[in-house]
Amino acid sequence: MSTVHHQLSIVVPLFNEQESLPDLLEQLYLAMQEKELYSLFKEPFSFEIIMVDDGSTDSSASVIRNMILSRPELRLISFQRNFGKTAALSAGFMAATGDYVCTIDADLQDDPFAIKEMIEKMQEGYDLVSGWKQQRKDPISKTLPSKLFNLVTRLFTGITIHDFNCGLKVYRKEITRRLELRGDMHRYIPVLAEWMGFKIAELPVRHQARQFGTTKYDSSRFFSGLFDFLSVLFITRYLRRPMHFFGMAGLISFILGFTISLYVTLDKILLHKPVSNRPILFLGILLLILGVQLFSTGLLGEMLSTSSSKGSSFAVRETVNLTHQQAGTFGNPD
Ligand code: UDP
Ligand code: MG
Repeated sequence: MSTVHHQLSIVVPLFNEQESLPDLLEQLYLAMQEKELYSLFKEPFSFEIIMVDDGSTDSSASVIRNMILSRPELRLISFQRNFGKTAALSAGFMAATGDYVCTIDADLQDDPFAIKEMIEKMQEGYDLVSGWKQQRKDPISKTLPSKLFNLVTRLFTGITIHDFNCGLKVYRKEITRRLELRGDMHRYIPVLAEWMGFKIAELPVRHQARQFGTTKYDSSRFFSGLFDFLSVLFITRYLRRPMHFFGMAGLISFILGFTISLYVTLDKILLHKPVSNRPILFLGILLLILGVQLFSTGLLGEMLSTSSSKGSSFAVRETVNLTHQQAGTFGNPD
């Protein structure tokens, strides 16, 4: 990890984007030279661009390697194979040294000149500013499912942004350092950030049609998206208290099963109705067993959650105490 510290790190995940890269970098550098941008920072403004090559099989990596020779701000991380956008973002976040971390897609669909407005918005007191592709320039096969995805995510999480999965986002480093992303969870970063207590804002950004190459996501993403959604819901609600989830479900199932079995039994004892021809008996037994199973799963979850030290259940904004203040190291939670 570089020891040089920058004010802004730009992280670009890319997979087979060789045609777009020269334009993208040219535009990024132009955007970084805009007065409106660098006047938002303390002098002297310094930035870095971290290109994360997610196992491209075209000449993306060599295009970047050639550019690095004349551009000291440019860095390249190349993956051994294609690990997906989430992994690429994670690697970029780990390497980033900036106080602000910006992510942008490599395919020229996002507008680098919007970064300055997003940072301006951050300085109003937000920890994450997410782009909103208000007028999205993609085929309907992408925009329609995406509308559905955003609607469902909004309903389940109560977070009121329109576009969870915009490639263009600006974060405070406190978020990017804490995010633990797996699968294709980059779609739910705002949900995870909100859960950690960070303040989120959304800003409409210009979006462009893809000029070169093809989209890297086909319909298989619906399933991975669904599974990641379930795990994000679970992580943000029950990771540290699995018993609250499984225990409750188990209890409900057990009580239902017990009531049914009791009813069938009383019928037999008091009214002498035969038990053998009562289909509902099977439901009763099923629910009883299911209840116990769910309960044990909850117990196992609790054991796992107690013994694993990873993934804290809280995020600290700052710690203040007299000794720290006197020593001059003040309020660094990490
Ligand atoms: N990407 C990546 N790894 C992947 C798939 C995509 O790094 O496995 C990058 C891709 O190069 C682009 C960004 O993630 O910079 C968004 O991908 P894409 O444009 O294909 O998605 P879309 O805009 O069509 O949703
Ligand atoms: Mg794209």
